[in-house]
Amino acid sequence: MKEVWKDPVWSSVIAGVILTVILSVGQYFFGLLGYISIGAGWVWSTFNTKIPIPLWLLIIGIPVLLLLVPVITKLLLDKEPNFTKYTCDHILGIDYSWKWNPPNKFRAEYRFDELTPRCPTCKSVLNIDDYDGRLVFCINDSCKWQWPLASQRYAFHHPAHRSDAIDHSSKVNERVMKEIDRKLHTGEWENG
Ligand SMILES: [Zn+2]
Repeated sequence: MKEVWKDPVWSSVIAGVILTVILSVGQYFFGLLGYISIGAGWVWSTFNTKIPIPLWLLIIGIPVLLLLVPVITKLLLDKEPNFTKYTCDHILGIDYSWKWNPPNKFRAEYRFDELTPRCPTCKSVLNIDDYDGRLVFCINDSCKWQWPLASQRYAFHHPAHRSDAIDHSSKVNERVMKEIDRKLHTGEWENG
């Protein structure tokens, strides 16, 4: 039997059969097809270098690899934490959306990114301009939306709460970030 593995024709035929089995099983796991191909490629190159592989290793190894496929699939699906599904909300009368950048080799945490304010009426990206009296406004000419909190920009009638006035773009962002942070901590975002 060992002679069969050393024969280049036979080992290629057997490698082909094994490849077909691995790839057909792999089709059930779309996300892992890439990994399966890499594994199959490894098996293929191993045969081509004509290193004799003990038959028992193939008989035990291949079913073990196939059994690992659903386990790996589950691990990959569980990797995304639940809060990464929270990517939009209606805050301060504005439709906000954002992204969670996954951890990479330079950073262990998810990073909040691309906070985008959109008009609730026409879905255009809103302008937030400290030098415009409205502070937050929709640039779409055919849209009649007005920021409901625009009047709070000048809170002269509440001198005691002057610091509460949303009079600057940084205050808008601070409030939005704190509201997102609050909803993440209370778990409120899951019901909203
Ligand atoms: Zn609009």
